[in-house]
Amino acid sequence: MQRQARADTHPELALRQELHRRGLRYRLHRQVLPGLRRNLDIVFTSARVAVEVRGCFWHRCPLHQSAPKSNAEWWAGKLARNVERDRETALRLAEAGWLLVEVWEHEDPSEAARRVEAAVRIRRPKP
Ligand SMILES: [Zn+2]
Repeated sequence: MQRQARADTHPELALRQELHRRGLRYRLHRQVLPGLRRNLDIVFTSARVAVEVRGCFWHRCPLHQSAPKSNAEWWAGKLARNVERDRETALRLAEAGWLLVEVWEHEDPSEAARRVEAAVRIRRPKP
């Protein structure tokens, strides 16, 4: 039961490229909390910001979610569990002082990068 087994999806690569272009440096596919077994897509350690790039189908984006017609019940359960897991991840991170920025795969990468950059700059410890 994987959220989407592929690690480096096209939307994720596009976002990373935008972030890099803006001078931001980050780590990839990290677990940041003991006991939270999630490899987060993009991690800014000192700012305590994590970014997850979510596939519209697998994570039920409000604009593009769709329900497969065959095996409908099984899919409904599976997708609902993904969404629940995403919620729990955001909550656990928030409880530990982290911010989870969730980016949909349909989002414009430079727009998403701007959101991420703003969060990182605000939360980065001042020298
Ligand atoms: Zn979408």
